[in-house]
Amino acid sequence: MTKRRSSIPKLELPSFGQKMPRIRTTYSGWWSTIRQRQLTAYPMCNRCGLPATVVHHIVPIESGGHRFDYANLESLCEPCHRLHHSHQADNH
Ligand SMILES: [Zn+2]
Ligand SMILES: [Zn+2]
Repeated sequence: MTKRRSSIPKLELPSFGQKMPRIRTTYSGWWSTIRQRQLTAYPMCNRCGLPATVVHHIVPIESGGHRFDYANLESLCEPCHRLHHSHQADNH
């Protein structure tokens, strides 16, 4: 029988003191990875079927859409992406 310990096991967190991770590059790093994965999973434009080059956010970030959620991403070709945003008045 294992005895239940009251102390919470210590989490092995990387020390941020010496080697500071490059947080500034985290967003673009993440985005390029996710963008790449999205285009690999869905290489064709969701609207017209041409090769997709743009990863578009279905729900805009400013409307509460998730930046990095695949459910909120759509592969589009550039003309369709431009068309989509020209239909909407705001230029997200
Ligand atoms: Zn298209
Ligand atoms: Zn877009």
